[in-house]
Amino acid sequence: MKLTSQMIKERAAELGIDCIAIGNIERFAGAPKLMAPQSIFPEARSVIAVAMRIPRGTYRGIEEGTHWHNYTFYSYNKLNTLFRPHLSYELCCFIEDHGYEAVPHFPAVPEGNGTTREPVAEGKLPPDVVCSVRVIAAGCGIGEIGYSKVFLTKKFGPRVRLGLIFTDAELEPDPILDTGDICLHCGACVRECPGNAVPPVKNKDERLYVDFNGEKQIWYADVRMGRCTLSHHGLNNECSPFLKKEFPNMALEVRNTEMTEEEAYIMTYTMADGKWGRKPGAQVMNYYDYIKKHTGYYAICGARGCIRACMNALEKTKRIENLFHNPFYYKKSWLLPHEPTEVPEGVNPYREAYLDEKYPGIRDGEYVKAKK
Ligand code: SF4
Ligand code: SF4
Repeated sequence: MKLTSQMIKERAAELGIDCIAIGNIERFAGAPKLMAPQSIFPEARSVIAVAMRIPRGTYRGIEEGTHWHNYTFYSYNKLNTLFRPHLSYELCCFIEDHGYEAVPHFPAVPEGNGTTREPVAEGKLPPDVVCSVRVIAAGCGIGEIGYSKVFLTKKFGPRVRLGLIFTDAELEPDPILDTGDICLHCGACVRECPGNAVPPVKNKDERLYVDFNGEKQIWYADVRMGRCTLSHHGLNNECSPFLKKEFPNMALEVRNTEMTEEEAYIMTYTMADGKWGRKPGAQVMNYYDYIKKHTGYYAICGARGCIRACMNALEKTKRIENLFHNPFYYKKSWLLPHEPTEVPEGVNPYREAYLDEKYPGIRDGEYVKAKK
C-alpha cells in the first residue's frame, strides 16, 4: 500500500505526538555534508519532524527559585530521552510496516560537533555526522527558529522538543514558515537572558541565514553559545543559586566571555570528569555529581530568556494556540547578584566547608585531638 503524509499524520495523532510536519529531501540539498540527512541516509526522499510539548508548569519550580528537577525530567534532558525512543520508534515501525525504511535522528550537543572531527580515510566523512535538528525541522515546516535560536511552534511557542525521521517514502511536503510567522522580534529573549547570550538586533549582517534550496530563506540571531552553555551548566552566578552558596568568591564574567560553545562544554565536562581543581594535594570534586544533587542534570538557567520570557510574550499577544487562564509571571523573575558575596577577611569558606564535611570538628581542634 502506498504510504501517504496523511496516513503518517493520523498515526502520529493516535500515538499522541503533538506536532508533525514533512519536508521533501530536496530542501536540504545545500546542507553541509557533516550536517545533512543525505549523509546518514542517501536514499532519503522525505524528512518528518515531530515535536512534543513541554508543560508550562515544569518551569514553575525554577521560576520560584525552589525546585530544579522538573525542568530536567519534563522539559529537557529526560523529556528528550523519553519521547524520542518511544514515539519516534513507534512512528518508524509504522513507516517500516509499509515497506519504507525509517531512520530516527535526534540532536547531539554541541550542535555541529561532527564538523570538528577528522575523517578516518581520505575522501570519506568522519563518523560524526549530526544534523541540526532545528534547521531541518524548520525546513519541514513544523515551526520556526525564533530570534533566540529556540524553536517555536504555532501551538506551543518555544515549549517543545524535536525529533526527526528520514525515510525513502515520497511524501506530500508541508510549506516552510516565514521568519516572523511566530516570532515577534520583541527582544524579550535578549533582555531576560542572564548570560547576555542573545545579541540585540543591530544589522542584517549579524543574522545567521539558512537557505532551503531556493524555496525559502530564514534567519535568526547569532547566539553566543559559550555564554549560554556556561549559564545552562551552572557557572553563571546570576542564575545559579548553587555555586553562589558553595563558592561565594567565584564570579565568572559569563555575560562578557568570548568562550565558544565547545570550550564551555570542555570546561564543564572536564569539571564533571572530576578533574576540576586537580593539583598536587588538592581535593578532587566531581562537578556533575555536585550539580546533579541539586537539579537532576545541568539545565540550571532554565531558559529564563529564550523560553520563559518568550512564552510569556507569545501568550500575552495570543500569538500561539496553547493559552492559559493565568499569566506565567505574577512577579518579577528573580536574578542573583553577579558579584562575589562578601566574606570576612582571612576566611576561605570553600575550604572550611570542605573541611567541615570531610573532617567534622577540625576547625575547633577535635580532629587534631582525635588523630593523636
Ligand atoms: S522572545 Fe521569542 S518572540 Fe520575542 S524575539 Fe525572542 S524568540 Fe522572538
Ligand atoms: S538557556 Fe539561558 S543563557 Fe541560554 S540563551 Fe536561554 S536564557 Fe540565555
